[in-house]
Amino acid sequence: EQAPARDDAFDGLRLRGVTKSFAAFTAVHDLDLDVPRGSFFALLGPSGCGKTTTLRMVAGLETPTAGSITLAGQDITYAKPYRRPVNTVFQNYALFPHLDIHENVAFGLKRRKAPDVARQVREMLDLVELDTQARKRPAQLSGGQQQRVALARALINKPEVLLLDEPLGALDLKLRRSMQIELKRIQTEVGLTFIHVTHDQEEAMTMADTVAVMNAGVIEQMGDPEELYENPRTTFVANFLGQSNLIEGTVKSRSGDLVTVDMHGVDVSIPAHRAHAEGGKGWIGIRPEKVLIGDPGEQLDAPGNSIPGGVVSDVSFVGVSTQYLVRMPWGQELQVFAQNTGHRRIYRQGESVELSWRPDYAFLLDFSQDARAG
Ligand code: ATP
Repeated sequence: EQAPARDDAFDGLRLRGVTKSFAAFTAVHDLDLDVPRGSFFALLGPSGCGKTTTLRMVAGLETPTAGSITLAGQDITYAKPYRRPVNTVFQNYALFPHLDIHENVAFGLKRRKAPDVARQVREMLDLVELDTQARKRPAQLSGGQQQRVALARALINKPEVLLLDEPLGALDLKLRRSMQIELKRIQTEVGLTFIHVTHDQEEAMTMADTVAVMNAGVIEQMGDPEELYENPRTTFVANFLGQSNLIEGTVKSRSGDLVTVDMHGVDVSIPAHRAHAEGGKGWIGIRPEKVLIGDPGEQLDAPGNSIPGGVVSDVSFVGVSTQYLVRMPWGQELQVFAQNTGHRRIYRQGESVELSWRPDYAFLLDFSQDARAG
């Protein structure tokens, strides 16, 4: 006989029905979340969606209004912050300005009278590649180096979970990109659970194994970056991770692996596993880089979905690609990003074109879900 599933069978961080209200305002609503141990998890969403509030509840800096938080099966919902094996790295480093780097990193261990502090600090500074900077003060380091000191200071406490609240927000773009790679390397090396809060979709996709997209206090979708990008389930996700053309359609039939949708008089096929609408009206989604632009009647990428009658309304040459706006017969402008491979010519404003895409690139979203989300 099979044993019943125990709550402590999961050794990661688990949130169940977590809600946080501030007076009449609900910042986080009925959140369910499983973060596997050792994973790099990103909470992604626009400003005000409830990311930081969620993180603060995990850290113990806020108490949930309802729900539970467990870590490796242990209930920590109401545990004091310092009782949790959790550390946080904030955007504004919060280093001690009058202590040097070594002393900053050693601080927590010394206070706990831990053994072998000097060796542990050296190892940690090695890990973040600051071993040569140990005797400098924070003000003598760059923003990226200060961020790595903050990271070393949090990691040296050997937390089970490290929370990162927009840790790269204060850095310029180039430094951000290199720190993203650096953070990912460090996470892989130490094997701890990282939960990273960001509003930057590229940052989340670059670093995380799993991304949870948050909007207005709820998680809209969760998955690995590629899955979220290829198979968004809501219009919010479709447009928060990259851009999507969303075109009104009516589901006509479903047979086997394909759904046929009437799109303003043209039949288009959509893979059944990417069709997240029950029937009736829906949004046909197609990413600008998945749309091919060709001469009228050219039937590019046949047997794809070909949509005739487009007229180029805007052209931007951006080096690696050309970005078009194409006005369709039903009045909507669609975005097309065409790679400049040299094989295709560049169309001019006012030219007639035909758009096409492979059926397996499109997705179908529920028409009514905007009302639900809004
Ligand atoms: P940002 O990226 O801007 O920090 P966020 O997604 O992290 O945004 P939160 O900081 O979690 O968002 O805030 C979510 C909502 O809850 C916001 O509307 C915010 O104003 C509100 N909120 C957060 N803390 C409090 C508080 N202590 N009292 C009242 N409202 C709060």
